[in-house]
Amino acid sequence: MIIQSVTAKSLIRTSSQSPAQVHFNPYQGCYHDCRYCDGKSERYYMHYDFTKRVIVKINAPELLERYLKKKGFFPYNRESTSTMIDYVPSMKNGECLNLPPKFLISMFGNICDVYQPAESKFQITRKLLNVAYDYGFPIRLLTKSKLVLRDIDLLKDIQKDSFARVAFTITLADEKTQKIFEPHASSTLERLEALRILRKEGISAGVYITPVIPFIGDSEENLHRIFQGAKEADAEFIITGGLTLRPGRNKKEFFETLKNYNPSIHSQFKKLYGNNHRGGQPDPKVAKEYDLIDIIKTGYLLSKEYGITFYEPRYIPQGQKWKNLQISTALARIAFLKERIMHEQEGIGEIRKAAAYIERMHDNLEQMNENDLHNLPFNHQIFEIIKEIITSNSCKYLESRNEWSNLIYN
Ligand code: SF4
Repeated sequence: MIIQSVTAKSLIRTSSQSPAQVHFNPYQGCYHDCRYCDGKSERYYMHYDFTKRVIVKINAPELLERYLKKKGFFPYNRESTSTMIDYVPSMKNGECLNLPPKFLISMFGNICDVYQPAESKFQITRKLLNVAYDYGFPIRLLTKSKLVLRDIDLLKDIQKDSFARVAFTITLADEKTQKIFEPHASSTLERLEALRILRKEGISAGVYITPVIPFIGDSEENLHRIFQGAKEADAEFIITGGLTLRPGRNKKEFFETLKNYNPSIHSQFKKLYGNNHRGGQPDPKVAKEYDLIDIIKTGYLLSKEYGITFYEPRYIPQGQKWKNLQISTALARIAFLKERIMHEQEGIGEIRKAAAYIERMHDNLEQMNENDLHNLPFNHQIFEIIKEIITSNSCKYLESRNEWSNLIYN
């Protein structure tokens, strides 16, 4: 394993979908070497030896701090801030300072795992968490490593101050198979144990079963074992997603592993991903021919069976337009249910567009009169949903499906 430290020029990526979230990758490359890893695909312009050489953005914590300072925030949780605040303690809570809204710091990278082995030595993620805590920012991260437990003290501090969430990717229950497809990540049992410990400490945590590998991870046994494990570990949420294999390195590496794992299913995969879809999606006609499960719907139904939310309850950072984000989240959820679970087609695009529009809206929906609301570019059905949420803080459509109470994290 080659470690290359670099001084990065930039780190932060703002979300094109929502101003309520920023994201970044403190590492490039990943020793975990998952054989299906999308981060290896040429699309991300990563180095060819992605799993053998890890680039460490050694100054990532400074870059985050600089970004937050530039926005006007200050490290109110730090003992000494080197600002006026040290002399005027009443300023500590920041209320009188007219600060911009906070945002969720997301380390959900697909080009690294923030707790891969290099983190033991460099502690970049830990330093980033420290900055987030000092500045009172909520965080959300995704990992396949039990190393996250090292930072439980900080995660608890962040959770107490604002919000901390850890999601674990768990794809294969059988340890032997898991080691073939995720050779250097923590075992599934270790991840579930880490999840259990975090939940016990009051930290928001859940499971991403992504990807569900066709013919291997989509068996009833595998899915039930993971759902059962997640339930026992008190997972707050669970989500399933399919396998994409982008033409190029991503697909090539997966197929090489497959040959060693089970050559007899190689031809099935070849046919399923023979469409060479740019985004790596399998051919839906072939999936039908092989009678493959609908991964989203199956996951949704299992989540109901196990009583785990099939969705990451949204955390809305302090200062954001709460009602707008609640409504956009509700609309996005309605679109998801109609399209992916009910298999309805009509009006889905409109609902999604409205959700995206509201997510970035400057005006506060709650403060608009009925006339102004009517003038928004939404159809009658969407208008009625918005009005219902504003006036009664409820949504019958979601309530009737038990999807309302867990929509927003409280
Ligand atoms: S942990 Fe994530 S980034 Fe790392 S190899 Fe696996 S899929 Fe890729």
